[in-house]
Amino acid sequence: MISMQIGGDVFTWLLIIVLVIMIIYMVVSGIGYMRKKDRATIEDTPLKVITTITCINKDYTIEREFREGDFIGKIEGQCPKCGSSMVIDKIYTIPITIRKRE
Ligand SMILES: [Zn+2]
Repeated sequence: MISMQIGGDVFTWLLIIVLVIMIIYMVVSGIGYMRKKDRATIEDTPLKVITTITCINKDYTIEREFREGDFIGKIEGQCPKCGSSMVIDKIYTIPITIRKRE
């Protein structure tokens, strides 16, 4: 009787372990699929690099497409408002695709 009970417990535990392994496998493969999908989306989305140039007096800001040699802190011309130096303060990427849902 006692050995039967232990045997039954082992079977139950085996079932639980198999189920847990299956769940882990599903979760892991699901995450892998999602990651692949994300990577594909990023690769498919064309990106545009934007440079933001701000006047040192913070009264004027322009944005234009990134040009080779742009770096944060680079002096880029004169402010049309106060004549002070314009400095690149941000370089970032945006997706080119126009969002229609917003
Ligand atoms: Zn200015």
